[in-house]
Amino acid sequence: TDTTTDDETFTTNIYYGDDADASHIEDKTVAVLGYGSQGHAHALNLHDSGIDVVVGLREDSSSWSQAEKDGLRVTTPDDATAEADVIMFLVPDTIQPAVFEAVLDGLEEGNTVMFAHGFNIHYNQIQPPEYVDVTMAAPKGPGHIVRRDYENGGGTPALIAVEQNYTGEAKDEALAYAQAIGGTRAGVIETTFQEEVETDLFGEQAVLCGGVTSLVKHGYETLVDAGYSPEMAYFECLNELKLIVDLMYEGGLGGMWHSVSYTAEYGGLSRGDRIVDEGVRENMEDTLEEIQNGEFAREWINENQAGRPAYSQLKQRDEQHEIEAVGAPLRDLFEWEDDVNETEQTEVP
Ligand code: NAD
Ligand code: MG
Ligand code: MG
Ligand code: MG
Ligand code: MG
Repeated sequence: TDTTTDDETFTTNIYYGDDADASHIEDKTVAVLGYGSQGHAHALNLHDSGIDVVVGLREDSSSWSQAEKDGLRVTTPDDATAEADVIMFLVPDTIQPAVFEAVLDGLEEGNTVMFAHGFNIHYNQIQPPEYVDVTMAAPKGPGHIVRRDYENGGGTPALIAVEQNYTGEAKDEALAYAQAIGGTRAGVIETTFQEEVETDLFGEQAVLCGGVTSLVKHGYETLVDAGYSPEMAYFECLNELKLIVDLMYEGGLGGMWHSVSYTAEYGGLSRGDRIVDEGVRENMEDTLEEIQNGEFAREWINENQAGRPAYSQLKQRDEQHEIEAVGAPLRDLFEWEDDVNETEQTEVP
């Protein structure tokens, strides 16, 4: 389609192929700082789209030779920034403020500072000068998917946002960048830094990473404490989750309900809200409030400055949960486990 769907179908602007104008990026040099999950995908997709790319890495980085092997130019972050018109920050979020300080001198009037996640801008950990554009192009998927979709002729849906529009062309350029990494082949949603950050943090805390792991552990413990075998509890509460999530991914909640048995459907519909009840909903609202008022961000920034003592403890406690010891040998029984590991090792340098 060649029409922007800002009609009544969606509540937000979604852009496709012809909505983007490549002239806003095609003659520019893009510095991609970092060559991890997102970095390698952005750099290679931009390069294959005909854009001049320079990767910025520390001299002792193990990714340096990999990026060169992949056919890219590599230099230090400050040299890459000095040379580039568009500087995309794809080093870890916790490291971005220090890298930004190190490259600041290379930012020229009219350059663009770009991000794939808005944490450091939204919570003022990076404060760019007023003479640059500040934008976002954030694929809604991990880097190896962003690269694979592009190589297969498709694309991964992406977000764009503009925080600072010095040149007056910030949005056009962000959309052209999103097109060059494959985003407009799938759909590019326009958002703001604030909305991207707050929804992203809430999603990972309440539902995707925090909520779901606690749900799995509580379910497992309930069965094992009642005398059922740990292996049965593992399969029922963790392993089968993937099958259910795949159905929801493909067909929404209705697609999932349609595919499970009537007994599962009635049991789930009648018991779900007892398990995840109003109290959970209130906890979610409290969690969202800590994100909105900056309390979570302050806690995490301080935690990093202190060397991550609480993080280390929480991580260790989770690693020592019985479900991990029970699950590892069970997963070894599956052939697909090897494929997954191989994919991660080769595609995420
Ligand atoms: P990553 O940890 O996979 O990669 C980080 C890269 O930065 C590595 O190549 C590392 O060698 C390099 N690096 C580390 N310190 C450096 C330094 N001081 N100087 C130069 N390079 C340095 O990171 P990622 O997951 O790709 O995340 C990058 C950004 O993308 C973050 O803002 C993140 O929030 C965002 N993002 C990630 C995903 C995802 O699925 N991974 C999805 C959307 C957005
Ligand atoms: Mg420059
Ligand atoms: Mg997210
Ligand atoms: Mg996140
Ligand atoms: Mg079952």
